Amino acid sequence: VAVGDELLLGTTVDTNGAWLGMELAELGVPVLARHTVGDRVEEIARGIREGLERADLVVVTGGLGPTHDDVTREAAAGLLEAPLRLDPELESRLRGRWRSRGLPFPETNLRQAMVPSGAELLANPLGTAPGLLLSAGGGRIVILLPGIPREMRGIWNGAVVPLLRERWGGRLSRLHYRVLHTTGIPESRLAELVEPLFGMEVPRGVEVAFLPRITGVDLRLSAAEGREEGASRLLDRAEGALREVAGRWLFQAASGDLVDAVAQALKRAGASLVTAESCTGGLVAKRLTDRPGSSSWYCGGIVAYDNRVKVRELGVPEALIREHGAVSREVAEAMVRGAAERFQVEAAVSVTGVAGPGGGSPEKPVGTVWYAAQVGDTVRSRVETFPGDRVDVRERSAQAVLALLLRTLEGGEVPTPPTGGAW
Ligand code: AMP
Ligand code: MG
Repeated sequence: VAVGDELLLGTTVDTNGAWLGMELAELGVPVLARHTVGDRVEEIARGIREGLERADLVVVTGGLGPTHDDVTREAAAGLLEAPLRLDPELESRLRGRWRSRGLPFPETNLRQAMVPSGAELLANPLGTAPGLLLSAGGGRIVILLPGIPREMRGIWNGAVVPLLRERWGGRLSRLHYRVLHTTGIPESRLAELVEPLFGMEVPRGVEVAFLPRITGVDLRLSAAEGREEGASRLLDRAEGALREVAGRWLFQAASGDLVDAVAQALKRAGASLVTAESCTGGLVAKRLTDRPGSSSWYCGGIVAYDNRVKVRELGVPEALIREHGAVSREVAEAMVRGAAERFQVEAAVSVTGVAGPGGGSPEKPVGTVWYAAQVGDTVRSRVETFPGDRVDVRERSAQAVLALLLRTLEGGEVPTPPTGGAW
């Protein structure tokens, strides 16, 4: 339960929830739900109560500060019928902290020394208010933590994790997971390929989640198997089955970024790359040079936005543009050949398309993009009609041409792009 009006207003993002989610997964505590509530006693109490109806553990962050709007203590004390009492030791510690800084003690701070009866204190190495652990009957527990992220994390790591391990150690089974990255295949098409495998090639005990992004769909495979070897075996089987049906769209990059897979392939081939970009305006170059060390496999490029640049800098014949238009197979291929030729490198990519919102025509609607990749003497080109706005079309174009380059470098089969509208 994340507490704070600022979270509901959206001025602060609930990073505590995200962090705790990962921590709990790592510990092997499945998270059923997350609630966000404002700074009101009834709402906080409702959040805790609803959590306790279905879970053994409710973690609350926020609302433990010294001011009148911090009411998490009151809410938990009321709900669990554990009246607040002044903890003399906490009080003297608080007073001592202020005294040691030579400051008068603000009496409102006494709120932070109020502890629900029966609560256990969880040491806060980085702040004044400790975390609190309360029993809710039936083995269920409620943990109250401050909202300030570093204090919350300090208490969690120092006090909560050891405590949960001690209490629940035997019951915890860590979630094992791995992520496979795809690009160039829409989520629904990928689901058609993958779902028939469930319960058979993808064994029971393995869950597959589809995580779509604009640049591709990730598949997260998870296995809640206590022992590491058991989980790896299940995941290996599932991964093998998925590779069988979707291998053409998969790429390998720990970061999830296709650029890393491209970089690996270029290094393996000992090749250097140049880019010739029209509608992406340097986005491909930007993504490549975001990678530290890219100078060892990326040479540079040309933003050939105006046709005059395509002609003058890349040697695209003017007649070709006149005859086929700038967005055409002929021009995409001439751009890629021109770039590889002029820079004398082994690999090149080119992109030319209609990013929109203007410039579309019945034969070449907004989103029409021709792109090409050259490796040695091999040139491959593709056309797609990408959906979305200008930003989407450019991002999808950059990703698509990098995928085409990767397949060309690998010498493998290049999957047919989805037809327009299939995304
Ligand atoms: P509180 O403990 O409610 O006084 O919160 C102190 C500060 O911690 C707030 O002003 C926020 O900036 C921050 N904070 C509170 N809750 C969260 C949260 N769930 N995620 C990230 N920051 C938070
Ligand atoms: Mg607050």
